[in-house]
Amino acid sequence: MSKGLLIVVSGPSGAGKGTICKKLLKKNKDIQLSISATTRSPRTGEVDGVNYYFEDKEKFKAMIGNNEFLEYAEVYGNYYGTPRKNIEEKLEKGIDVLLEIDIQGALNVKNIYSDGVFIFVLPPSMEELKKRIIGRGTETQEAIKKRFNSAYKELDYAFKYDYGVINDEVDEAVKKVEAIIIAEKCKVSRKVDIIKQL
Ligand code: ADP
Ligand code: 5GP
Repeated sequence: MSKGLLIVVSGPSGAGKGTICKKLLKKNKDIQLSISATTRSPRTGEVDGVNYYFEDKEKFKAMIGNNEFLEYAEVYGNYYGTPRKNIEEKLEKGIDVLLEIDIQGALNVKNIYSDGVFIFVLPPSMEELKKRIIGRGTETQEAIKKRFNSAYKELDYAFKYDYGVINDEVDEAVKKVEAIIIAEKCKVSRKVDIIKQL
């Protein structure tokens, strides 16, 4: 049996990572999302244990101390971390795991799982990105500024990823991510055991 694929999705705030991942997961029930822990407050409609594990700073620090994170980072003033538990186990069982994490986290994960696939979601334009962050209506004026200003720096890191998906139309972007996953799984480097058994 082949190992599961680790799929890592990053991109500037507002590019549409969450929207794409949600649709991808709905269409592909065999892909499992890794739920991160964060010190950020829940947005309206977000549910603890579904969108994130919402923790206070003390608990988050204790989790760092207990080596519970595969990676963690401070992003736009809050802490976010990928729980280590289950990821390796799921991959070994052949289950594909999706991480929607920031660039610092993704680059750290790349050092550990170099055979993962790293996808950068891009907005069609910076004007559209700004519109989307504002339109989402979940951030304060100050947080919007922080996120939008970070976007320019974040774009420089797109070149460290394997694929860039422009999110112009959501369904098209999801199809592209699905195509990337299919192509990754067809790589001969992932088929060594299967080929040798033939
Ligand atoms: P991210 O997770 O990258 O921060 P979101 O998925 O929350 O971004 O998307 C930001 C906002 O843009 C949301 O209001 C979402 O509904 C909207 N959005 C996402 N993708 C598109 C798209 N292709 N066209 C128009 N609006 C989009
Ligand atoms: P948001 O607050 O909009 O949900 O997320 C802000 C940023 O944190 C996004 O870029 C998101 O991908 C990133 N993020 C979410 N979870 C994690 C995580 O576990 N680790 C890291 N490094 N970043 C994360």
